[in-house]
Amino acid sequence: MTPGDPLPEPEAGEGTGREAPRRRFVLDDQGFDEVPKKYRRFYRRWRGEGDPLGPNEALCPVCKIVVRSTRELRPGDRIYCMACMTRLVITRSAAGHLEARVVY
Ligand SMILES: [Zn+2]
Repeated sequence: MTPGDPLPEPEAGEGTGREAPRRRFVLDDQGFDEVPKKYRRFYRRWRGEGDPLGPNEALCPVCKIVVRSTRELRPGDRIYCMACMTRLVITRSAAGHLEARVVY
């Protein structure tokens, strides 16, 4: 368990199928100061077009902050943007990359 990770730990039993294990990532604090210090490494500012997102990162469509997990994100994942308190679900866009959509 990684406290504060936007992507909760999976339920027991998940990942027992054919899917490869998720890659894990070490996050660094990039100075995002809109959330408490212990959560800062899970968020960073997006620098706009040309700022690529990692496989563990998703752009919050509401506040345009990059939400980061210690684990690779996959379609269907639900994450939480603490910066604007929005719940998001990861989907795969027509262009083939990961997108976060708001869960209402
Ligand atoms: Zn947000």
